[in-house]
Amino acid sequence: MPPPTSDDIVGLDMMVRGQVIVPGSILYEAEAKKQHNAMYHSNKPAFYVHCKDAADIQETLKFVTKHSMELSIRSGGHSICGSSIRNGSVVVDVGRICHVDYDESTESVTVGPGATLSDVNVHLLRRGRMTPVGVIPATGCGGLITQGGVGWLLHRYGTSVDNVIAMTIVLADGTLKELDHSSTGDDRELFFAARGAAGVLGIVTSITMRTYPMENVTGGLWAMLDDEKYS
Ligand SMILES: Cc1cc2nc3c(=O)[nH]c(=O)nc-3n(C[C@H](O)[C@H](O)[C@H](O)COP(=O)(O)OP(=O)(O)OC[C@H]3O[C@@H](n4cnc5c(N)ncnc54)[C@H](O)[C@@H]3O)c2cc1C
Repeated sequence: MPPPTSDDIVGLDMMVRGQVIVPGSILYEAEAKKQHNAMYHSNKPAFYVHCKDAADIQETLKFVTKHSMELSIRSGGHSICGSSIRNGSVVVDVGRICHVDYDESTESVTVGPGATLSDVNVHLLRRGRMTPVGVIPATGCGGLITQGGVGWLLHRYGTSVDNVIAMTIVLADGTLKELDHSSTGDDRELFFAARGAAGVLGIVTSITMRTYPMENVTGGLWAMLDDEKYS
């Protein structure tokens, strides 16, 4: 299939609830600047699709497959190596899927991939709860939680991904999968693989994690300075 024409891209923009941002629009340059690593601020993706829900992602994946294009997945834009904004790719940006919901009955929290660690921490702190995430508040849940997630609570409760109890993911063929520890057969394998390598399997739209009671002291820093002035 040949590359998409501008009419094809306008067609995609009309199909999604979110927004398509193409080269030449005033927003296009600003999009690259959202990456945390400034080394990639000059990257030139084919275009960006800001997805608002799973249906937008499905529509975009259909388009990308039809036109044999490459895609990048962006949640919080904190990829150190620029994997979420590759040159020439369609950037599927799920930053607007950023809900955070604590469920008191199961003591679990469900987050959208675009929620930041700060969104999660603040939401849980207000409810006297916490869950293991990374240390830099602006990092996105989509990349951090699905790929590992090492933070202050590591030694007590493990990595973020150790605490994932359910996940919703749109696979490359557009299938929406709800996965958890009760999944069987292929879905069981998928759930195992998605907890560490979600980005090569599909696009995650929500993640549910265990939470723990907030205690008085959860961590701290003890610096030992090699200077007699401080001894
Ligand atoms: C300043 C800084 C501090 C950091 N601190 C920590 C830390 O304390 N602990 C730690 O463990 N890591 C840390 N990291 C690493 C960080 O966890 C990873 O770079 C992570 O991928 C960032 O997630 P993101 O959603 O912001 O990234 P993005 O740039 O949006 O995405 C990066 C990659 O994650 C995958 N991905 C993103 N969203 C999805 C999705 N919805 N579905 C499937 N795959 C997806 C894709 O492969 C994508 O290319 C840090 C990185 C930076 C730049």
